Amino acid sequence: MTEAVLTLSDVSYRWPGRSAFSLTIPALTVARGETVLLLGESGSGKSTLLSLICGTIQPDRGSVQIADTEVTTLSGSARDRFRAEQIGVIFQQFNLLPFGTVTDNILLPLRFAPERRRRVGDVTKEAARLCSALGLPEGVGRTKADALSVGQQQRVAVARALIGQPPLIIADEPTSALDANSQAAFLDLLFAQTAECKTSLLMVSHDPRLGERFDRVLRIEEITQVERAAA
Ligand code: ADP
Ligand code: MG
Repeated sequence: MTEAVLTLSDVSYRWPGRSAFSLTIPALTVARGETVLLLGESGSGKSTLLSLICGTIQPDRGSVQIADTEVTTLSGSARDRFRAEQIGVIFQQFNLLPFGTVTDNILLPLRFAPERRRRVGDVTKEAARLCSALGLPEGVGRTKADALSVGQQQRVAVARALIGQPPLIIADEPTSALDANSQAAFLDLLFAQTAECKTSLLMVSHDPRLGERFDRVLRIEEITQVERAAA
């Protein structure tokens, strides 16, 4: 049997307020080292699903297991620590701290994740190694994040997700603002590192052309049921 890094069963969630958007996911599994692309139109619930997996929102019912831990039973602060330890997150807008240096940004998740930090050893050296592996210029570590080009910011966001080898990387449309060449380069970097570290990758996109690079492609409407209140 393949080892699962992520297992969702009978999860459902309804956003409070007027939109009354509700999402039900009967079953979703991602195996160790597996790369999965999740496709869906804008507004189909992709980011909601990723927030449920990351534990930034709590399901109304159902089970979310990551690396054998039932995330839904953890307290809020325990969930934050668990996320920092187990999940590397790449947001659509990269969410770098603009006034922090590149090194500050890459090391940020380790501040809340002592085990992930211990795996790294010399953290400054590892941040520099990742920068170099990701094709960032020598000595970039001391540069403020807001002085970087968009392409460089992406690489920093990838380094921040990869540092300390979390077992799962979650990426929410990280390539949507990029042209085709930069998209391919970005995915090359991400796949090289996930293959080397046996990291699982769950990436969301609305672009089906990315699918051929992934082990498995899912469409959100195949794995979820959506309800919207009448307008
Ligand atoms: P996608 O990422 O596929 O574009 P989202 O998960 O962001 O879709 O949004 C799906 C639906 O969930 C939205 O159309 C909206 O109705 C609802 N929704 C998303 N975020 C919120 C929020 N913060 N508060 C209330 N409703 C929300
Ligand atoms: Mg989204």
